[in-house]
Amino acid sequence: MTATIIDGKAFAAKVRAQVAEHVAALKGQGITPGLAVVLVGEDPASEVYVRNKGKQTVEVGMNSFEHKLPAETSEAELLALIATLNADPAVHGILVQLPLPAHLNSDLVINAIDPAKDVDGFHISNVGLLGTGQKAMVPCTPLGCLMMLRDHLGSLSGLNAVVVGRSNIVGKPMAQLLLGDSCTVTIAHSRTKDLGAVCRGADILVAAVGRPEMIPGDWVKPGATVIDVGINRIERDGKKKLVGDVDFASAVEVAGAITPVPGGVGPMTIACLLANTLTACCRANGLPEPEGLTA
Ligand code: NAP
Repeated sequence: MTATIIDGKAFAAKVRAQVAEHVAALKGQGITPGLAVVLVGEDPASEVYVRNKGKQTVEVGMNSFEHKLPAETSEAELLALIATLNADPAVHGILVQLPLPAHLNSDLVINAIDPAKDVDGFHISNVGLLGTGQKAMVPCTPLGCLMMLRDHLGSLSGLNAVVVGRSNIVGKPMAQLLLGDSCTVTIAHSRTKDLGAVCRGADILVAAVGRPEMIPGDWVKPGATVIDVGINRIERDGKKKLVGDVDFASAVEVAGAITPVPGGVGPMTIACLLANTLTACCRANGLPEPEGLTA
């Protein structure tokens, strides 16, 4: 058996096109969704992410507000900027690029964002809302995974889902979303006993670990849907390469469907950031939420 490859790049393009259509309609009513991205310091990887976010924000017709602050910015200065953005009606989404320089308290900063504008879904209120099954802003990467799963499988109800990884940004919200869609969810982590046996019970296997090709094909239940969140940079045969947390070559022979790395979950993250900004804008204006773009 060879798995269907879930094309995240194509799916993300579809999501962006849907977002762009909604944005055009909103502009017809005199409303332009706006996303503010705050970058503190000069981390090269973060600069690339922020540039891509800005570019894609403009491409779907939204306003992009970039705030680049020096590495030595004080907590008070950053909090003052967030307060200004919270109060600005042209800004519907606020994203503070992580990691922040060590002298800044990320939890304090993230929790200063108006939860309604917290398009990363990391504010403690949004975590609580998601955990209690209420309308929240949902973290972008797990939201992208959920969209791909729904698109591929239709209803997820009653399926056994195993999420490997329990981080606050991927593993935990992913588990909450799968529970929300009535999966039977197991969260595995570094202390899980016999991880292979746990994974083999999964109809849906989500890997969010950060260890290159850790999950071999013989941990995959035949026909399962495998979502590989991992992005690992390795060197093989003298060449730099991106690989996931799943050993794609062996898993593709067993799974029913699988996301590749690169070109799977990765492209969905920014697409979902744009979707969240659109959702935040609709909510702020008392308009119906865009269908298919929320949890
Ligand atoms: P993280 O915060 O480092 O969490 C990793 C999780 O994996 C932890 O819960 C850890 O367990 C678990 N783990 C580590 N070693 C394990 C092992 N041997 N067996 C089982 N579980 C193990 O990572 P993250 O931020 O969630 O990111 C995970 C991966 O996703 C990374 O490769 C990251 O680059 C990628 N990522 C991709 C996107 C995207 O846009 N596609 C977005 C975010 C992250 P403990 O809690 O017990 O330590």
